[in-house]
Amino acid sequence: MIVAAIKPTIHKAPEGVPYRHLFAPSNMMGYRQGILQAVDAVISQMNKTERPFTGASLAEVGEKFDRHGPADFEQGVSMDECLEEVQRLYMDDCIYFHDEGYVAHLNCPVVMPALVAEVISSAINTSMDTWDQSIGATLMEQKLVRWTLDGIGFPEDGEGIFTSGGTQSNLMGMLLARDHYISSRYGDSAKIGGLPVDSSRFRIFCSEMSHFSIQKAASLLGLGQHAVVQVAADDCYRMDMTALREAIEMQRAIGNIPIAVVGTAGTTDFGSIDPLRSIAQMAREYGLWFHVDAAYGGGLMLSDLHKEKLTGIEEADSATIDYHKTFFLPVCASGFFMRDRQHVRHISYHADYLNPKEQERAGVPNMVSKSLQTTRRFDALKLWMTLRTMGRSELGRYIDRIVELAQETAGLLREARDFEVLHRPEISAIVFRYCPVGEGDKQEVNLNELNAGIRKRMFASGRSLIAGTKVYGETYLKFTLLNPQTPVSVMEEIIGMIRAHGEALVREQEQAMACA
Ligand SMILES: *Cc1c(COP(=O)(O)O)cnc(C)c1O
Repeated sequence: MIVAAIKPTIHKAPEGVPYRHLFAPSNMMGYRQGILQAVDAVISQMNKTERPFTGASLAEVGEKFDRHGPADFEQGVSMDECLEEVQRLYMDDCIYFHDEGYVAHLNCPVVMPALVAEVISSAINTSMDTWDQSIGATLMEQKLVRWTLDGIGFPEDGEGIFTSGGTQSNLMGMLLARDHYISSRYGDSAKIGGLPVDSSRFRIFCSEMSHFSIQKAASLLGLGQHAVVQVAADDCYRMDMTALREAIEMQRAIGNIPIAVVGTAGTTDFGSIDPLRSIAQMAREYGLWFHVDAAYGGGLMLSDLHKEKLTGIEEADSATIDYHKTFFLPVCASGFFMRDRQHVRHISYHADYLNPKEQERAGVPNMVSKSLQTTRRFDALKLWMTLRTMGRSELGRYIDRIVELAQETAGLLREARDFEVLHRPEISAIVFRYCPVGEGDKQEVNLNELNAGIRKRMFASGRSLIAGTKVYGETYLKFTLLNPQTPVSVMEEIIGMIRAHGEALVREQEQAMACA
């Protein structure tokens, strides 16, 4: 165990000493004290937090900020005072993803080795852009890129990079798809020559359940959102292969140019996984780039029980994996991976001051050449310390449990006569709605309003936070389960809360109608 002695003579910077806030060997007492104070503030918050959210309204939270203004930032206060303020302004009313009542979006509870890693990486403040700023950190990231490439099943010449999130990874996937097409079709480089006139006819295919970041990428890449053709999903919310073929043929028939298809492994709403193998085959048939968005489903690769659900991802040209979703790491931690490292050339730039070409030829690993970012956090340390302390297998058991919990919860909802469940969960998301059992046709409840109302009341009570979504225009509720510690009894309670809010809303509606 590492225990560091702090030598008071050289490490303690008394009040009034200039630069005592600087992270420096002379200020190690202050460093330890500050970090421990922060840890204590978090612990005291954990002790008093009993629900994922207090339910505070925007007005209530906003009011706390009323007496704060630019003058606050003029002169410093003590760390004690500052922490108290942070507790009041932020921690008291924030959303706690670790709470078992939080079952809304794709925010995971985090594992502790990653929090330990954050302490180290934020103090040392490595930037990943070049070897001469990062040394071992670059090699650690490269080992983890290799580990992930193996998990995906990409060959030896695969390549990857840590990114800020699935949105950036998907942007990189679409960038490679576009530029690969341009260079192979026109022999030009889009990086230098920009887009050919034909580019307004480029088309990217993804399922109608795919993530909006694909559209955003198309728009940022100058192809326009209309370049994204949304293909119908089947009744399991996976891309319908007949519809994909029809869509490709149709676009070709009207003179457009299919360049890529995106398969989603874990749609944000349903967790459904597109038929990756069949998509790979069709992509080959039509000569399309095949990108897999596994931002959500990527964590399945950790699980001995469920990894085969990702079968087909190894045939992709590129893939997105979000470690800050199903790998239980704090934000940001995400990655972008490609099967063939020669495509890196579409992204790389050389700056004389940073990563000159001579260095590259000499084999110096400058990660900036593969990244959209320049200065970049050492997020890989979180994954490194997590895998080295827990091992892949223990992390995989966390995944196994959330998949199991989702199945148990879907079972509860299916058994309940007053709930409608839209699908069998593939990962850990469940889309459903409260559907009170009517007595004959007397009951004229508007299910969309009813479920939207339930969600609002759940949010305002703060006891459990659930998500909502629209499926073909109808309002539904959604659970995203990412907490392996949650027993199914808690899910039973949450379902009970939803029902109670639903019943109350129906009663209120009936009373209002009776009065009218
Ligand atoms: C969350 C998500 C994204 C976006 O990832 P960020 O890390 O939030 O940028 C992309 N695709 C899918 C399927 C997702 O679930």
